[in-house]
Amino acid sequence: MNYVVNEQLETVSHTLFRSLGSGGVYARTALFEQVVEGLSSLISRYREPGTEVLRFPPVINRAQVEKSGYLHSFPHLLGCVSCLQGSESDIRAALEGHNVDQEWVTALSATDLVLAPAACYPLYPLVASRGQIPRGGAKFDVACDCFRHENSHEIGRFQSFRMREYVCIGAPDEVLKFRSEWLGRVDELANVLGIPYRTAAASDPFFGRAGKMMAVSQVEQELKFELLIPLRSQESPTACMSFNYHRDHFGIIWQLRTEAGEVAHTACVAFGIDRLALALFTLHGVDFERWPRHVRDAIAV
Ligand code: ATP
Ligand code: ZN
Ligand code: MG
Repeated sequence: MNYVVNEQLETVSHTLFRSLGSGGVYARTALFEQVVEGLSSLISRYREPGTEVLRFPPVINRAQVEKSGYLHSFPHLLGCVSCLQGSESDIRAALEGHNVDQEWVTALSATDLVLAPAACYPLYPLVASRGQIPRGGAKFDVACDCFRHENSHEIGRFQSFRMREYVCIGAPDEVLKFRSEWLGRVDELANVLGIPYRTAAASDPFFGRAGKMMAVSQVEQELKFELLIPLRSQESPTACMSFNYHRDHFGIIWQLRTEAGEVAHTACVAFGIDRLALALFTLHGVDFERWPRHVRDAIAV
């Protein structure tokens, strides 16, 4: 079957999104949000007992993002919160130049906040501050609005989008089990949603030449898998979920320890909520009433 539905993608975008003057930033209509809510509650039904739920704001402490390695690996994607700082007269001076539109921008200076690029970053330092991870590992359900300074604004590559994640912190075997169990649920989830898909080893969009080598090694070691849905074409399907094993990366940085005193490993399973909703509308159409009955039932809130 051919799932090349580019035209459909355009229709979906026109029907469900409203332009807000910047590429990849949209207002979403009630129908789109209804499906987003339905998806979110479907995902919640997969939450394992004992999972702690935390909802994060769209900003993160800048020092935490620097320390986590994000700045080093993805400086091109990161957005920083900048403000006019200083005394009232400093701020007034920035607004009273001849060419105010540009001058106030050059007078901006960075604050201690950056825009969240993914939902799980604030979790690791927070959990580390509580002491050792209990035997069996700790599981979390986190979410936030994310920002990425993407270099293309094709439909589905938003600058501002929502991410939901299940995260596991524990011994290597516990964390790997968590990730493989999630990979094992994909087929059921895709059937429930009536979407064609495949999974594949993938890499993160690391910055620069050294980053290319990191990406190759990430694929070789199967540290990241993606759930790919053919929205644009079969050849370049869209990543709607990712299954990431960070090994001891965050454990070392934040000194996360298991009860046995070992460095904890971490893994996260990320749902690109807006992309999943976009996929449903692209594949089933913009008329919700005509979606397959079982899909409508699955995402009924
Ligand atoms: P891509 O491969 O499309 O660049 P990614 O590999 O950088 O995405 P992750 O960092 O794994 O994505 O983020 C988890 C999920 O968040 C992705 O699988 C995707 O569904 C969603 N996502 C990532 N970037 C965007 C974006 N710019 N717009 C919408 N959703 C996104
Ligand atoms: Zn994550
Ligand atoms: Mg990717």
